[in-house]
Amino acid sequence: MGIQDLKTHLGEIHDINMASSILEWDQETKMPPAGANARAAQLATLAKFAHERFVSSTTEKHLVGLEKESFEYDSDEAALLRLTRREFDKSSKLPSEFVAEQSRAKALSLNVWREARATNDFKKFAPNLEQMYVLARRKADYLGFEEHPYDALLDEYEPGLTARVVETTFADLRDQTVPLVQAIAAKGPATDYSILTRDCDEQVQETFGLEVAQAFGYDLSRGRLDRAAHPFETAFSRDDVRITTRYDRHYFPMALFGTLHETGHALYELGTAPELARTRLAQGTSLGVHESQSRMWENLVGRSRAFWTHWYPRFVAHFPQFGDVSPEEIYKAVNRVQPSLIRVEADEITYNLHVMLRFELEKAMLEGSLNASDLPEAWNSKMQSYLGITPPDDARGVLQDIHWSMGLIGYFPTYTLGNILSVQLLEAAKTKIGDTDAMFANGEYAPLLGWLRENIHRHGKKYKPDELVQRATGSSITAKPYVAYLKKKFGEIYGLES
Ligand code: ZN
Repeated sequence: MGIQDLKTHLGEIHDINMASSILEWDQETKMPPAGANARAAQLATLAKFAHERFVSSTTEKHLVGLEKESFEYDSDEAALLRLTRREFDKSSKLPSEFVAEQSRAKALSLNVWREARATNDFKKFAPNLEQMYVLARRKADYLGFEEHPYDALLDEYEPGLTARVVETTFADLRDQTVPLVQAIAAKGPATDYSILTRDCDEQVQETFGLEVAQAFGYDLSRGRLDRAAHPFETAFSRDDVRITTRYDRHYFPMALFGTLHETGHALYELGTAPELARTRLAQGTSLGVHESQSRMWENLVGRSRAFWTHWYPRFVAHFPQFGDVSPEEIYKAVNRVQPSLIRVEADEITYNLHVMLRFELEKAMLEGSLNASDLPEAWNSKMQSYLGITPPDDARGVLQDIHWSMGLIGYFPTYTLGNILSVQLLEAAKTKIGDTDAMFANGEYAPLLGWLRENIHRHGKKYKPDELVQRATGSSITAKPYVAYLKKKFGEIYGLES
């Protein structure tokens, strides 16, 4: 049995998983609410099939045979063996019945969350939420951990990262950014923010968002944009990478930056090497690295002054109601720093405080020191102490994110990691391709995309996050460039003493 036999075996499992992804995409974008129960059963069946095939003696035989051969470390074959071994050992620890149970519970919980959020009814969702945490805790126990159950879950999303490292990084970042938020608050508004609430037709918003996404490199022959309550990107192959967004007529940044964010995720998946297709290597290496791509295109490109210099004429052509506003005013308005209720709408600085709050709460839930029924109160009190505001209702508080309803626990820290990495990677790119702001001012994105494809995208999941970052930037993951970027950009917008 050669490597090709392993690839064929894994390819079939991959196909089952991609079929699940299509069912999930459909559930989020098209499915009528009454379809939820049948969909939960369908997803559970596919999850069980895929899991049983993967943890089978067939996979084991392939692995044991091929591990006797010597492949060059950097080869696709060696990477496939490393990843398959890692995932095989992990998955073998999870009983198939547990995998199916978790999948079924997740699909049902997702539907209850959606109703609870729409009707602002946390009590309705609490039992499902409690169950998602019980299952997550059981999963952590199956997988095993050294220090904290959180580590077992975090490792799924960010191989090698631990709760302890997250705590240290977050504490440092909090010390650096809280004084910045306070200094900005003391300065008052940088411009007239009411322009952001001007009425913008949803169809025109979609057209403009797609125009920018395509200029960034999003290829509509290999992708599509749909609407969803909670925007996401999903890939069924490197030639079918879809994104979703949501619209608010009276707040155009929601759809625009949401679209650019998901475009950043999509560019990563579109850029994986064709040789990796139909294997688990053909995807982003971790959520943190994935998020570095989305945040780069959303914030470092889309929220830059150079971006608005270039796009202003097209923006006003689509939205003549902004003809009396200068590009500089739009730039300052879309970079407003203000403590707010909703994570995905938060500015670049306060965003990380939303993440820290979730990290602390999910750790407490997992430890069992916090119950689902007490979660809204814990949420609101942390919002008050971190951001100085209290949500008026749970829909805009503890119910706002989809993650916990789907059992995505241990996921949130990767958002802040992504912010940190986005700047570290852009700084590394600049040393090779030159002044990116001058390029953005001309609407040129190919040099940046080219650097990302060469150093990040094409490798897919071949290297673990820290190893990939080392190779791309010459150093380990560090928050220093990110903090410097925040201080420079917002210090300048708000006229702070440096
Ligand atoms: Zn994202």
